[in-house]
Amino acid sequence: PLILAIESSCDETAAAIVDGEGNLVADIVASQVDFHARFGGVVPEIASRKHIEAICGVCDECLDVAAAHLGLEHLTWSDLDAVAVTYAPGLMGALMVGVAFAKGAAWGAGKPLIGVNHLEGHLYANKIGAPDFEPPAVVSLVSGGNTMLVHMRGWGDYETLGATIDDAVGEAFDKVAKALGLGYPGGPVISQQAALGNPDAIAFPRAMMHSGDLRFSLSGLKTAVVTYINNERDAGREPNVPDIAASFQQAVVDVQVKKAEMALRQTGARTFCLGGGVAANPVLRDAYQALCKRLHVRLTLPPLSACGDNAGMIALVALDRYYAGKFCPLDADAQAHANLDEPY
Ligand code: ATP
Ligand code: MG
Ligand code: FE
Repeated sequence: PLILAIESSCDETAAAIVDGEGNLVADIVASQVDFHARFGGVVPEIASRKHIEAICGVCDECLDVAAAHLGLEHLTWSDLDAVAVTYAPGLMGALMVGVAFAKGAAWGAGKPLIGVNHLEGHLYANKIGAPDFEPPAVVSLVSGGNTMLVHMRGWGDYETLGATIDDAVGEAFDKVAKALGLGYPGGPVISQQAALGNPDAIAFPRAMMHSGDLRFSLSGLKTAVVTYINNERDAGREPNVPDIAASFQQAVVDVQVKKAEMALRQTGARTFCLGGGVAANPVLRDAYQALCKRLHVRLTLPPLSACGDNAGMIALVALDRYYAGKFCPLDADAQAHANLDEPY
C-alpha cells in the first residue's frame, strides 16, 4: 500500500508517504518557525492560518516527490490506499486544519482515514533510523509539550511510568533562551551556547532527582536560571551566556539520565530510545550513549531530522494501523489533549 500522512499539530505543516515496507518515499516539512520567532513562541492563531496556506502545496509536493521516487509520471490521491492524519494532541486550531483537509481528501478519493496520536508518532520516529527497532523498550519522550518516561511493552501497548508535573523540557529550554534574549526556538541555540561554556560553573537545582519516582519538575529550574540572570544584571554584571546555558543543560540532563536508569532497572527493558524535539540535543544523546553502554542496553535514537515534528513518523504509525485494519470514521474530530495510550 501507499499511505499519505499529514501532520499539523503545532508549527510545522508536514506530509509524508510510506510504502508497504515502511520506506518513506516522500517526507516534506514546511516549518513556520520564522513567522513565530519574533513573538518569542508559537502563536496558535498564526499557526492555523499558516497551515491553511501551506497544506495544499505541501501535499502536492509530497505526491510529486513520491512519484519521482517510485519512477512514476504522476501520483494522485486516487493512487493512495489510505490518508492518515495527526488528530491529537496539539494546538486545536492547528490540528483542525490537518484533520479537515485529510477527511476531505479521504472522502473525495474514497480512501479510508487513519487517525494518529502525535506522541505515538514521536516514538515511531525511532524506526526511521533503526528499522529493526522493536519493543519492549523504555522511551524518554522529551518535546516542547511533553516530558515522560514510557514503557513500550509492544507496538501500541504503552504504559506511562512518570511525567513532568509542570513544564516540559523543551519548554524550559525555550523559556531560558527567552530570558537570555536568544530568541525562539530555544533548544538549538541553548545547546550551541552550552558547547562554549562550563557545565559546572553554576549549581542549578536538580529537581526531583531523589524523589524516588519517575516524575519530573522543570519550572523551579527555569525560575532559578531566571533569578540568577536577574541577580547578575542587578549586580552590574553581564550574564555569562555560555556558562548559564551549559549549567542549565547539565542540570536537565543529569535528572533525565538518572530517571532513565531507574526506569530501565524497574522494567528490565533491554532497549532504550528517545523521542521528541529535545532528542536532538547533543549532550543528552551523548549522556544516553554512556548510560546504555554502562547498562549494556541497546540505544536507538531518531535521526536528527526526525526528532522534531514531521509526517514521516505519523506515516509509520499509520502503516501499522492500516495492516491492523484500524481506521477512523470520517466524522472524527481533532482533540487538543490525548494520552499516549488512547489511540483513535
Ligand atoms: P509535543 O510533541 O509535545 O506536542 P512539540 O511538537 O511542540 O510538542 P517538538 O517539535 O517535538 O515539540 O519539539 C520542539 C522542542 O524541542 C522545542 O521546545 C525546542 O526548543 C526543543 N529542541 C529542539 N532542538 C533542541 C536541542 N538541540 N536541545 C534542546 N531542545 C531542543
Ligand atoms: Mg515545531
Ligand atoms: Fe511534537
